[in-house]
Formats: sequence, C-alpha cells, structure tokens
Amino acid sequence: MDLISIKRKYRNIRNTIISLALIFSLLLIILVLNEVYKKTLIVKTSTQYARQIENIKQIAIQQEQIKAEEARKEKLPELTETGKQNIKNIYKSETKRVFLTFDDGPSKNVTASILDILKQENVKASFFVLGSRVELYPDIIKREYDEGHFIASHGYSHIYSQLYSSPQSVLDEYNKSLVAIRNAIGEQEYNPHLFRFPGGYSGGKYALVKQEAATLLEQNGIMHVDWNALTSDAAGSKTTEQFLAELDKTVKQHTSVVVLMHDAGTKQATADALPQIIAYFRDRGFEFKNFYDVFK
Ligand SMILES: [Zn+2]
Repeated sequence: MDLISIKRKYRNIRNTIISLALIFSLLLIILVLNEVYKKTLIVKTSTQYARQIENIKQIAIQQEQIKAEEARKEKLPELTETGKQNIKNIYKSETKRVFLTFDDGPSKNVTASILDILKQENVKASFFVLGSRVELYPDIIKREYDEGHFIASHGYSHIYSQLYSSPQSVLDEYNKSLVAIRNAIGEQEYNPHLFRFPGGYSGGKYALVKQEAATLLEQNGIMHVDWNALTSDAAGSKTTEQFLAELDKTVKQHTSVVVLMHDAGTKQATADALPQIIAYFRDRGFEFKNFYDVFK
C-alpha cells in the first residue's frame, strides 16, 4: 500500500468515527431532552393536580362551614310578630299537638334519664331551666341543646321573695339565667325569648308584680308561657297512675296541650312515668312539638 492510500483509509476511518460520534451525541441529546421534557410534564401535571385537589378541598370546607352556620342559625330562636301571636295563641290549634315541658332543672340524674327516654321515643321537649342550676350542670344543658330540645328560662333563683321583689328583678333574673345558658351551650347569640313565671303567671301574692313584669319582659322581647295540663308531680302525685289520672283530668278536650312537669333532682317518678305519658298522648293522636315550632 502506498502512502496516499494509507492516508485515505485513515481519513475514511476518522470520518466514519466522527459521523458515528455525531449521530451518537445527537441520539443522546434527544434522549436527554425527552427525559427532561417528560419530567417537566410530570411535575407540571402533578402540580396542577395538587392545585385542583386543594381547590376541591377548599370548596368542601367552605360548604361544610356554610352548612354548619345554617344549622347554628336554625337553633337560634327569633321573635317575629308571628312567633308572638303563636305564643299568645298557644292553647289554640286545629290539629292535636302537645308540648312536654319540664321546669326547675337541670338535675344530674333525673334530667339525664328524661333525655334518654326522649331520645328513645324521638320526642323533642322544652326545658324551663333555672340559671343557678344551669351553672351547676352546664353539660346537661349542652346535651339538651344538641339533642334539639328547646331551652327557655325559668329565672335564676326560684326564690319568690327575691324574684318578685320588683318587675326589674324578674328581668334581671331572666338575663342572669340567659348568661348561664349561653355559657353552657357555647352560643352567645342564643336567646329563647321565652320565660315561665315560677308558680305560674296568674294570681297569688305577687300577681301585680308579675303583671308588670310581663309588660317589662315583652318590651324587652321576652314572651311568657304557662301550661294548661299537668301531672301534678310538684303537688301530691307520686306514681305513674296518679300522673296519668291527673293528666286525664287536665287535658280534657284541649287540642293544644302544654303539659307542666319537673326535672328537679327529686322527680325521679316523672322520669319513670315518662314513657307512659308519651304513650298517653301518642295513643290519642297528639303530635309532639316544642317551642322551636312556635317561633318559626
Ligand atoms: Zn318552678
């Protein structure tokens, strides 16, 4: 082989190597670029996904908050003109209805038993609570509230000489009991706008003070309600039979019945009789209501 042909051969080999190297490098670049592109795409897509999931979560949280706020508002009684009229006409109704009401609570054991029975029977009742007792058992008031019962005020002390010393004193006791109720249920906007005079509204030694107090209360957006039927669990009756006999005597032909009962600590007999009291009304076609139904 002469020198020229050796050189040519060498050049050919060199060119081939350079070409191969170039092709290889190109391939490598394409491969690397492809990988980079894929990675960027994945990162981009996953960021988008994460953002979308975050958005959906936020919307769900907002919807939950709106729902919770609606449920909270639903449990805040509002005193409208219709509500006022409904309270004034509480003993009138075209269809049979009954309001089970419990005064003088809460008490630790009796109120808890009553709540258990109401839950079993799926009945909503109304509790006219004493502020001084609410401070002792706030958890029971919270349970009453959470389980859909209506919590109204029966004043703070239940000591007639204090409570009925003046109309202002009645309003003061209402407000004091309201503070206790609000703290117990953790709801500072709650106001039942409803009071029950200890001993009842009409008559007695303090009749005049009560009459003036009723006007003062109404000026402050507070209505009052008594009862038109009772078990006499605070005056003589002790057994379920006696409670039912007393009910029969007082329910008479009423279509709209407000029953007075008590859930003070000494009223275990009331809790014991409650399933039969509920059955009494159910058997006679009464629908159970509480004061939420009246304020609507
Ligand atoms: Zn009472």
